Amino acid sequence: MKDLADLHTHTIASGHAYATLCEMAHSAAQKELPILGISDHAPSMPGSSQEIYFRNFQVVPDEIEGVRILCGCELNILDYEGRIDLTERTLSRLDYTIASLHDLCTAPGSVEQNTAAYIGASKNPHVVIIGHPDDGRFPADYESIVKAAKEHHTLIELNNSSFIPNTSRVNTRENSLTILRYCKKYRTPVIISSDAHFVCDVANHRLSLELLASVDFPDSLVANYSASLLAEYIPALRPEKNSDV
Ligand SMILES: [Zn+2]
Ligand SMILES: [Zn+2]
Repeated sequence: MKDLADLHTHTIASGHAYATLCEMAHSAAQKELPILGISDHAPSMPGSSQEIYFRNFQVVPDEIEGVRILCGCELNILDYEGRIDLTERTLSRLDYTIASLHDLCTAPGSVEQNTAAYIGASKNPHVVIIGHPDDGRFPADYESIVKAAKEHHTLIELNNSSFIPNTSRVNTRENSLTILRYCKKYRTPVIISSDAHFVCDVANHRLSLELLASVDFPDSLVANYSASLLAEYIPALRPEKNSDV
């Protein structure tokens, strides 16, 4: 199956990533990746950009070197109700968002609190992807999260950076296997992302693909493989948005 998209990537605008948007797009073009999503960290992440950065994306072309560019954001889930850190006015201008829990922004809570945080974020109509829910520093009830993602039309992320040996996230493989089991059971689609913080990792989905293969996960539930499934979640990718009438 052709991998169409990498929607979780960071540029220098995140404050702890090391390439520009153009360099990331160039890397995507070299790897023949059709769709690149830029998802710099929202303002609560120390060192990241201010809200105004996320409000001016109309200056970025829809295509760079033949790669479709989507301008999004990795939001921080700020509390156990799932509140996030961009205003409605800014959110409405983005192509998509990812909502994640980060220990630099939010202290891990109990299983019930972390689960409520993820579910609260899922209910936000601007949230398209629940980012790295496999992070065991934020233990959660994965069955409830996967069911809520299905109900509120959000994608569950399989984050390739969760599986690299020096990740600070914990129990990611075991947690991801549990998440994938529930995604299969409830027919909740997943999306594979690199979480690249430099050009080398753009479109690097290798470890996630190995995990999917190990559990015989159905291709039909992987958004990366289907333009129409991606378009169900991201209006900017719908054909009518791209016509010139
Ligand atoms: Zn993250
Ligand atoms: Zn990230």
